[in-house]
Amino acid sequence: MLSVYQIIIPTPYPVGPVNAYLIKNDPITLIEIGPDTPQANKVLRHMLEMLGCRIEDIKRIIVTHSHPDHCGMAEQFARASGAAVLIHPLEESKIKGKQDFYKERMPFILETGIPAEVLKEVIGDKDELPEPSLTGVNIKLMSGGESIAFDGGELLIMHFPGHSPGHLCAYDPEQKLFFSGDFLLPHITPNPLMEPDQEKPGSRLPALKQYLSGLEVMEKMNVAMVFPGHGGAFNDYGRVIDVARQHHQEQFERIKANLQAGELNAYQLCMAIYPGLRKFGIALGLSEIVAHLDFMVANGKINYSKKQGINYYSV
Ligand SMILES: [Zn+2]
Ligand SMILES: [Zn+2]
Repeated sequence: MLSVYQIIIPTPYPVGPVNAYLIKNDPITLIEIGPDTPQANKVLRHMLEMLGCRIEDIKRIIVTHSHPDHCGMAEQFARASGAAVLIHPLEESKIKGKQDFYKERMPFILETGIPAEVLKEVIGDKDELPEPSLTGVNIKLMSGGESIAFDGGELLIMHFPGHSPGHLCAYDPEQKLFFSGDFLLPHITPNPLMEPDQEKPGSRLPALKQYLSGLEVMEKMNVAMVFPGHGGAFNDYGRVIDVARQHHQEQFERIKANLQAGELNAYQLCMAIYPGLRKFGIALGLSEIVAHLDFMVANGKINYSKKQGINYYSV
């Protein structure tokens, strides 16, 4: 049986703290590790000590996805301990490439019709956390479907894209524990972030389609407890899945209602639906809206046409 300990690590993001999970069976493994801040570092070191685990005892670090609040300290701790970092190739390439968030997404952001002065405000809002890096660490790429062994148990690594293209979750088949990262959270619906398709340059990944397919897979699994990347553990995942689906359904309806009066671009829709957004929040709002628009276009629910480089949508 796997012995699992939750470590709650502070982040400067509005989402609040991130959870790391220490599995004390050999080889000792961390799922998530937290952001690269002095506060997070102090908490993680203190908690590991309280749990009787030395840094050099850590043999594996599972990175669910490349967001800095989840994996910022991976490089530092992997170097100090010699631990292997288990990560999906799509997340590893994001970290390795140090891809510029805006440069990669700029063609998609410009298509939304965002005014130049607002774009300046968004880009000027620098991330408080440094870009994660994995230089000089032993990386083990995981695509999902692998089983990783422990003394007295195992974890199945599963690929659940949508929030991030190479998002991994882990499942303990014996105790039916599911480590969900940002794929399934008790209190918020993860943003289906705008992601370029590495295999089809110039197009976006169907993030929301991927995410909703993942919910179908998860729904059929036998899970006793979900350990999320943020918030407390929960066992009523059927309800959380329903809430997520309902959120997306309502978003489709809100978009349709807004398009009744005439065609709009994604920026106009974003401001109509989220009038209070500012700075980086606008980039997140645009991601959320564009993911829904892509899904509706793909399913023939709405039309779009391009005018002077901007996509306009209509019912
Ligand atoms: Zn995330
Ligand atoms: Zn997160």
